[in-house]
Amino acid sequence: MGGASGQSPPRPAPPNTDAGSVLSTLNDDGTRRWIKPRLSPGRWWSRRRGVAWLLIAIFTLIPHLRMNGKPLILLDLATRRFTFFGHTFLPTDTILLALLLMGVFFTVFLCTALFGRVWCGWACPQTVYLEFVYRPIERLFEGGPGRRHIAWLHATGLGRVLKHLTYILVSCFLAHTFLAYFVGTDTLRQWVVQSPFRHPGPFLVMAVTTSLMLFDFTYFREQTCIVACPYGRMQSTLLDRRSLIVTYDPNRGEPRRGAGVIALGQLKQGDCVDCGLCVATCPTGIDIRNGLQMECVHCTQCMDACDAVMAKIKKPLGLIRYGSQAELAGEKAGLLRPRTLIYPTLIALIVTAIVIVIARQGPASVRVLRGRGPVYTTLPDGAIANPILIKIANRRDAQATFTLDAAGAQVRSDAFPATLKPGEVATLPATLMARRDDFTQGRLDVRLIILGENGLTIEEPHRMGGPAAHPRQEPKP
Ligand code: SF4
Ligand code: SF4
Repeated sequence: MGGASGQSPPRPAPPNTDAGSVLSTLNDDGTRRWIKPRLSPGRWWSRRRGVAWLLIAIFTLIPHLRMNGKPLILLDLATRRFTFFGHTFLPTDTILLALLLMGVFFTVFLCTALFGRVWCGWACPQTVYLEFVYRPIERLFEGGPGRRHIAWLHATGLGRVLKHLTYILVSCFLAHTFLAYFVGTDTLRQWVVQSPFRHPGPFLVMAVTTSLMLFDFTYFREQTCIVACPYGRMQSTLLDRRSLIVTYDPNRGEPRRGAGVIALGQLKQGDCVDCGLCVATCPTGIDIRNGLQMECVHCTQCMDACDAVMAKIKKPLGLIRYGSQAELAGEKAGLLRPRTLIYPTLIALIVTAIVIVIARQGPASVRVLRGRGPVYTTLPDGAIANPILIKIANRRDAQATFTLDAAGAQVRSDAFPATLKPGEVATLPATLMARRDDFTQGRLDVRLIILGENGLTIEEPHRMGGPAAHPRQEPKP
């Protein structure tokens, strides 16, 4: 069916030349192949459903929860302030945000190396909402393959109407929950209770988000995983032969029914009865018996489907199971290998760095930047002046006032004393002045002193630029 990963599958996929070999959601003539997977309830389905409902509850509740008086998670893009579990990252925290992102990436790499696409099958919002919210709604009103549905709902077309109405309501609720992560529940509540004409921008954002959710979960569906999600495309580099994946055991299953071979006068027959249920239940429309494929989101539905068949024909369960390519090939399949050692080490280093950076953060942070215009100017009295910018982030949850002083130079600024709101970041102009004779080879090292409340003192070293010793070496202002 689709592109196999870079690792050699346990059994080579048969060559396909039809349109389906390019994309499992295409018919031979290039039109969309609508996949209506048959539901296979089983032990893995029950477990996934439990996890999915827990995740949906967590996702819905998080914007309403508080820690240290702040939202548990708030991604305020407008002010570029991100709150996670009571700690707010300000726009000046680029190092922390970079470390956090690296930590997330390495954690994803580690999970994939160990457990394959466990994220896709068990926790990705795309899978969770599609398989446990939208498809159940569809089955409720329209039935589905292998499921009886209410005949009169189908005959009158009412089932279809109700399905779409429910889709719109659910998508609207989902879009509001999603936006609460970015604007907070208080702002969202205001937007919801007031007229859209008072907040046309937010209303438009809401309408677009709802429409995108509807498009994704009701039309685009599995194609998000197959063609749009970059994570699926990275599988060939993230997985290895010892990663845990959903896999069909060809040693046990082959030759499948109808393809038995005569060996030493006896018919050799594998356990696979070629019922096709593992294909009929697959939400991405592939055949797991063709080996590891990029389209497989590890949803475990083929495991449940096949287990039901094996139980019926009284064969051991697990013809399709969690396993690794190495295990199927009879090789050693342990957890330890270079990548499963390197990733945790990197994650531990990143977590340590994050803890150290947060622990060293005071109630304010200061950065000194060069001001606009020439590096220095010569004042009428011969002194040298440097324009600078002081970027101050008030990390406290209360308003704070800051004053500016300097050691080794004079400082002048109309912006100080500066009063900053809680969490505010301000970039304030100032001018440093020093005698021309104090410069050595065009440089003068000074210290800027920012004084805050409750005895807060922050000292920042700064190098002023000035004329070189010899007039001919002076940089052009
Ligand atoms: S569900 Fe099991 S028995 Fe049926 S075709 Fe798939 S692998 Fe073979
Ligand atoms: S092959 Fe199996 S695990 Fe993979 S997506 Fe299809 S049903 Fe899910």
